[in-house]
Amino acid sequence: MKSVVFIEKNPLSNQLRNVSLELTHKAYTLSNPLGGEVVGIFTGDSLPENCDELFQFGMSRLLYFTDERLAHLHSIAYKHILETMINSESPDIVLFGATHTGRDVAPLIASSLKTGMTADCTQLYIDDYKDKGKILYQMRPAFGGNILATIITPDHRPMMATVREGVMLLPDERLNFPVKTEVFPIDFNELWIKSEFLEIVPKVKKVDFNSANIVVSGGAGVGSEENFRLIRELARALGGEVGASRAAVDFGFVEKDHQVGQTGSVVRPKLYIACGISGQIQHRAGMEESQKIIAINKDPDAPIFNIAHMGIVGDLNEIIPVMLRYLKEEG
Ligand SMILES: Cc1cc2nc3c(=O)[nH]c(=O)nc-3n(C[C@H](O)[C@H](O)[C@H](O)COP(=O)(O)OP(=O)(O)OC[C@H]3O[C@@H](n4cnc5c(N)ncnc54)[C@H](O)[C@@H]3O)c2cc1C
Repeated sequence: MKSVVFIEKNPLSNQLRNVSLELTHKAYTLSNPLGGEVVGIFTGDSLPENCDELFQFGMSRLLYFTDERLAHLHSIAYKHILETMINSESPDIVLFGATHTGRDVAPLIASSLKTGMTADCTQLYIDDYKDKGKILYQMRPAFGGNILATIITPDHRPMMATVREGVMLLPDERLNFPVKTEVFPIDFNELWIKSEFLEIVPKVKKVDFNSANIVVSGGAGVGSEENFRLIRELARALGGEVGASRAAVDFGFVEKDHQVGQTGSVVRPKLYIACGISGQIQHRAGMEESQKIIAINKDPDAPIFNIAHMGIVGDLNEIIPVMLRYLKEEG
């Protein structure tokens, strides 16, 4: 069971995107037990500086084609180049990060290869299916997150999936695979370039969930934008990041960048404090793997208490000020 993983870098830092490492490791856990290898495919202006790291997570080879005209995403060019690489390897599985580039290029390739592709998978595993032998089971929330659908591609190859950054976990231990990068010859066609980049205006990242050990999130129960300062103060006092439910974002209490959940960020902090959040499945999809969850809610039957390690039943307007006072006194 051979896997191919699309490798991406952050063009501003020239470093690998985390999702490329996460998917390399995931592909290794899928392919290795069945004697298959993991091959990376990359295109862009230059290889990421730290691409050697891929080989610590189970990559056997990295195929690449670089050209300065590919510094930014050109969908048609990327599609032709990556599809040629995929065809040369005849893999069983192809994984893309559900990034801007992955969401753009992976469906183009799946459609061209006449195979299935499941977007935004949250779990991937191999199992038997009828007389088809081992196939890839691709799980993702469906129907507004109310069910977890298992999707398969039993009759076509490759079996393709995209996964968002942060969904697959990286292991603590590292492998020691030899670094093998191979230039992949491509007959580059100028007509594949359909657009010109005049200026890149990087979006200033206001929220950094990746390095936050603590996330304090507020929901509709916070009541107002003004009252959301309680959530910000608690996050600041704990040295954490501010999160939010979609309802809090929709009510305008806080910016969309803070949203946690199925259509927001997936977070896995050491401590997640959910304040005035009911705990609907779409919110849980983004936080339920936090190491410790504390929920504050005035409704003792709120579903968030089913996944919380510690629950405080009460009004957040009374509880958070007590927490802040305690934190101040304790220094
Ligand atoms: C396709 C789709 C994608 C979605 N994606 C996301 C997503 O990414 N993230 C997300 O969060 N949601 C998402 N949702 C929305 C989700 O279904 C819920 O509507 C949302 O999570 C509810 O937010 P909430 O818990 O803040 O609000 P509510 O469900 O209204 O809950 C508010 C809670 O606050 C409590 N409360 C009220 N006042 C107080 C008080 N003073 N003190 C303490 N507790 C109080 C109440 O008891 C209640 O439990 C999505 C929905 C769909 C259909």
